[in-house]
Amino acid sequence: MNDLETIISMLSYRRPAGSATEMAFIKKFIIPLGAKMDKHGNWRLVIGEDPSVLWSSHTDSVHSKEGFQKVDFDGKFISLAVNSKSNCLGADCAAGVWIMSEMIKAKVPGLYMFHFAEEIGCVGSNAVVEKEPELLKAIKSAVAFDRRGTADVITHQGVRTASDAFAQSLADQLPSRFKPSDRGVLTDTKQYRHLVPECTNLSVGYYNEHRPHEALDVGHLIEVRNHMVKIDQSKFVIERDPLAKPKLSKAGGKSFGSFGRFREETLRDLVWGHPDKVAAFLENQGVTFDQLRDVIHERRERKANINDLFDPLDLFSGAA
Ligand SMILES: [Zn+2]
Repeated sequence: MNDLETIISMLSYRRPAGSATEMAFIKKFIIPLGAKMDKHGNWRLVIGEDPSVLWSSHTDSVHSKEGFQKVDFDGKFISLAVNSKSNCLGADCAAGVWIMSEMIKAKVPGLYMFHFAEEIGCVGSNAVVEKEPELLKAIKSAVAFDRRGTADVITHQGVRTASDAFAQSLADQLPSRFKPSDRGVLTDTKQYRHLVPECTNLSVGYYNEHRPHEALDVGHLIEVRNHMVKIDQSKFVIERDPLAKPKLSKAGGKSFGSFGRFREETLRDLVWGHPDKVAAFLENQGVTFDQLRDVIHERRERKANINDLFDPLDLFSGAA
């Protein structure tokens, strides 16, 4: 398959977290690279000795149903076929998975993380932070391929996650339209911000993600690949202190939680800090115990089934 055929093939899989077609996608495109599943559901692979860069994407999508879908290519963009009933294209994050697969084939050094369940709360990356932070001790930068558009090297995901100097040093090795941008939104690399100095996200050419009219600029994606397989990591400028306290805006004091030492930045922070209030809020919104239990446990059961497919020794030997 050529580049375009591979990208189109990837985009034909609908990949809700824990679904059978997400697993089929992983079997076709990620396992053959040599990646192994970790105990958190992420797929990972190390190239080189003690790599200092973590490359990040995620295997799930916001598709509402698993299965396959037809896509069209108009010479510039891939989008859903005209009469498709699918709710999104899923270039978020198939585009990132494709770039990483190409970098692996080109033997670019790094810790490659294909994260589990980014779209339902960065589940896989959070698990690494909470249960296996030592995995990241040699990592100086975490680069996600999970950003819309064609020009952003993200410095802020709500809060600062990468220095301007780092973003510029990466942009300097990409097509000249790339510039540092402080307008990022949450992805897995944000979870690593207290452990890894520079945490960013790069534009991989999709637009209108999470929607039926999502489209992928294939030329951009291939151009980024062409640069990434030649990337010189020794030129990355590492400046940010991951342990520095975030600067608070004037209203910032209010964003401290009841413990006064914990800055609430994500939905997860709020759920963790105020479980009773969150439960009351969900109840008021009409969410029932049964509904929530089904959502939470169905995903766990599916994940357990995925585990059954592999030799447990393989799983827990530390894929890295
Ligand atoms: Zn994404």
